[in-house]
Amino acid sequence: MTTPEGRIAVVTGANRGLGLETSRGLASAGYRVVMTARDAAQGAAAARELATTGAAVEFQPLDVGEESNIAAFREFTRTGLGRVDVLVNNAGISMSGFDIDVVRRTLAVNFFGPLRLTEALLPVIPRGGTIVMVSSGMGELSGISAGLRARFSDESLDAPGLVALVNEFIESVASGRHEERGWPSSAYRISKVALNALTRIWARELAPAGIKINAVCPGWVRTRMGGPGAGRSVEQGARGIVWAGTLPPDGPSGGFFRDARPIEW
Ligand code: NDP
Repeated sequence: MTTPEGRIAVVTGANRGLGLETSRGLASAGYRVVMTARDAAQGAAAARELATTGAAVEFQPLDVGEESNIAAFREFTRTGLGRVDVLVNNAGISMSGFDIDVVRRTLAVNFFGPLRLTEALLPVIPRGGTIVMVSSGMGELSGISAGLRARFSDESLDAPGLVALVNEFIESVASGRHEERGWPSSAYRISKVALNALTRIWARELAPAGIKINAVCPGWVRTRMGGPGAGRSVEQGARGIVWAGTLPPDGPSGGFFRDARPIEW
């Protein structure tokens, strides 16, 4: 673990579930943690409660699906923080049903949210900084067709190309032709496949700047999303996220991990 003195971590979706537990873990590791959530009342209450344990946490509102929120948060980081050493893109949704609204909303929060937030904060992420994409086993390439697998894992794919690919999925669903074009009927799956692809792309591009980025699957965890039947506690699920956020300077980048161990893309 790096020496965290004076280091600042930002966690999205930190008012409950894995985001809250990750904030607790990073604060225990000595980070000043900026907990963010879209609901200001819930987020502030979660941060207040965590602060009673002596944790150096504070709250800022941030709906990752709203570009205006991201712009306001970027300004806060520039003027109020000056640096972000660890960014944990944790916020995510898993909606029931499958239609164009579900697809648009899911991609907006799970893929475009982390993409836009990370781009907005990159200027304040210093050398040695670490980005964690909270992903899922649902994002594994084995869950999609061979054709899509080749396109998402193409080494020449860049972020604009990936955005075009994701928009192709959205447009295929809107026109009712996604199945004939080989896309699965799962917005959540594509959102995490795309998030993983973004992790690989940015790992290559950010390496010269000394910034690490990894994707983490927390396993099936008892949160509002995972439900009460899940096999893992939030503590177990968050441990691997905290691990990825506190990697030493020579730690891995461009990997997909569960419980601090590499898993297949
Ligand atoms: P929860 O549903 O408990 O928490 C999700 C968090 O994301 C909440 O804080 C929620 O805030 C926040 N969120 C949702 N939409 C937005 C938004 N637009 N802007 C900001 N915050 C938002 O789920 P988990 O803690 O389980 O999920 C955390 C991450 O872990 C997700 O990315 C999920 O995909 C991933 N994951 C979870 C698994 C599990 O089994 N639980 C398995 C694999 C991956 P609000 O209270 O406002 O809704």
